[in-house]
Amino acid sequence: MARAPRLPSITVDDLTLHLRDLASNLWWSWNEEGWSVFQTLDPVEWRATNHSPLATLERTSHARLEALAHDPIFVKRVYDGLAARMAYLGERAWFQRGAAARLRGFKVAYFCSEFGLHESIQQYAGGLGILAGDHLKSASDLGVPLVGVGLAYRHGYYIQNLHRDGSTQVLYPEYDFHRWGLEDLHVSIACPIGARLVTARILRLQVGRVPLYLLDTNLKANSPDDRRLTEGLYKGEPALRLRQQVLLGVGGMLALKALGERVSVLHLNEGHAAFAALQRAVDIHASGGVFGDAVGAVRRSTVFTTHTPVPAGHDRYDHAMVADALEGVIARAGISASELADLGRVRAGDSTESFCMTVLAMRLAQRVNGVSSLHGEVSREMWRELYGADGHSVPIGSITNGVHTKTWIDPDAAHFWREEIGLRLSKQAPTASGWRRAESADPRRFWAMRTRLRNRLVHFVRDRMALQRKRRGEGQAAVAATYSLFDENALTIGFARRFATYKRAPLLFHDADRLARILSDQRRPVQIVFAGKAHPRDEAGQAFARRIFELSREGRFVGRVAFLEEYDMHVGRMLVSGCDVWLNTPTRPYEASGTSGMKPPLHGGLNLSILDGWWPEAYDGINGWQIGTTEAAEDQAAQDECDATSIYETLEQSVIPQFYDRDADGTPLGWVARALHSAATVPLAFNSHRMVAQYTRTMYVGAHETRGS
Ligand SMILES: *Cc1c(COP(=O)(O)O)cnc(C)c1O
Repeated sequence: MARAPRLPSITVDDLTLHLRDLASNLWWSWNEEGWSVFQTLDPVEWRATNHSPLATLERTSHARLEALAHDPIFVKRVYDGLAARMAYLGERAWFQRGAAARLRGFKVAYFCSEFGLHESIQQYAGGLGILAGDHLKSASDLGVPLVGVGLAYRHGYYIQNLHRDGSTQVLYPEYDFHRWGLEDLHVSIACPIGARLVTARILRLQVGRVPLYLLDTNLKANSPDDRRLTEGLYKGEPALRLRQQVLLGVGGMLALKALGERVSVLHLNEGHAAFAALQRAVDIHASGGVFGDAVGAVRRSTVFTTHTPVPAGHDRYDHAMVADALEGVIARAGISASELADLGRVRAGDSTESFCMTVLAMRLAQRVNGVSSLHGEVSREMWRELYGADGHSVPIGSITNGVHTKTWIDPDAAHFWREEIGLRLSKQAPTASGWRRAESADPRRFWAMRTRLRNRLVHFVRDRMALQRKRRGEGQAAVAATYSLFDENALTIGFARRFATYKRAPLLFHDADRLARILSDQRRPVQIVFAGKAHPRDEAGQAFARRIFELSREGRFVGRVAFLEEYDMHVGRMLVSGCDVWLNTPTRPYEASGTSGMKPPLHGGLNLSILDGWWPEAYDGINGWQIGTTEAAEDQAAQDECDATSIYETLEQSVIPQFYDRDADGTPLGWVARALHSAATVPLAFNSHRMVAQYTRTMYVGAHETRGS
């Protein structure tokens, strides 16, 4: 940083002002010079507020602020943080250094129904949101001109508590957007939904260089029904969900217009946002010509990413409902209800086929991709009829997902790699080739780092278990007993994901006796941490959570299996850094990509996974393990049997013996070699800088260039 000025003490008011300034751009969340300032402010409140800068600031006592304002070292850290952010914002990044920087008017609007940016901003349900958050951060780091568009949900997704019987208690807290640093731009739009105009105000969350615009209809001007549009994420009946999607797509486009944000490329991240493309066509059509030509122009400049091969993951609505909800929009397009209907179905004129958001998105986007190579293949097969082509000529490509390294890497691990292999994470290039040197790290120091991270996780699990038991009203003895659960040195396996049924959270318990034998080996103990939320309406998913909760309380599993409630980005970060092995058990090929498995290798963790989603692209026989094969069994029961057996055999024959094969110093050299190989091979490719660069080069630039032709 700049030469340290001799700082006189400053006033509390000035300090507060600077801290608010630092909190006003989410840059703080992925840069240690940012978040660590707020942590120092009040470490207890920092934890209590789930790491919210503004909430921590509010709760910090005046006396403490007074003391900090007179502490030149602290004041300097605040100034340094602001200076580092200013330098970052002004930097010529990857995009500015490339040929695309010369494109005139190049700007991408990235639409998504959820954004997972930080644990203190509860606006995400799972992987889709996390991916969108990571996309924005990488776009910012790389300097790609992009704006995000979404909705601001005042109840967020939901908070998960488990009752004593393991059933899910769904809680909806009321969030205060100002405490998240959302700025009211005092611009509102009138979005046609059905026969009415719904008023939405526009809020902005600044993510580095990227603005994220979020719409909020919770305004006095609106009817109670319309105020519910931004009540919750994936909350409510299909009719409400449809109207939310009209708000996101149509309202989102109107918001960009109202703000004077001229975008050349539209990126629909998942079908939820497809009405944005329709609105764009209506807008182009308004200046004359036939609607079909407007659709053509929209197609050429629109990118659509599909995210799941699970049929239920593709929203389908009744045609009459869609025609009603879009009444105002289609009137302006001058198209009939049946023409609208055909945009949303595979077979034109087939009234038995419902209106599908994915089909609409595919009809309105020329560039379509899946999120892993395998998912691209599966999607080409899945949408063959829509394109009237055989599997190979269906124009759906793939860009494999990635994770934002600085968001997910633990500071201890980041420090380790910097010291050991000179890895500099702030170098903003899409190819972080420094990871290649991971195998030259010192095995003993590496193992010491792994041991520290596992230790911290074990203490985190105990703390959370104690809190959970307290909340459920369990006795003092049960609460105290949590402090003897788990073992700092035992092989630790993690499983944390949305509890969608295809992910098969309970698969590990397929043969509970065999698992119990594996876990309770006195010489070679194994322990497992679970976390995950099911959608409030997904009864089967909730039953999975309950089953694991119950099993974790059976005598033979107590102290070896834990279920952590309320899986969020913080719990996720603790797990992916502390676990030795990351377990992934989807039914192939339903996991389109998955990204959580990309996070442990940043900390030297290893994947044990079905060959689904991103894993077949990364797995090289050494950097983790595969479960099962690529052959599908004849039915689900046979598949479960086969995959579970494969997990037990791999654990018994490879994972556990290697973890416990120690040299005289207690270091498992074979394991360490594997783990370092995982760090040398996975983060290199499976990061969101590579992903955003790939979207830019292979999709955005082309969409920009063909938009007018
Ligand atoms: C990384 C992450 C995900 C994505 O997990 P997958 O199941 O691998 O898609 C979801 N939720 C949280 C909190 C995460 O950190």
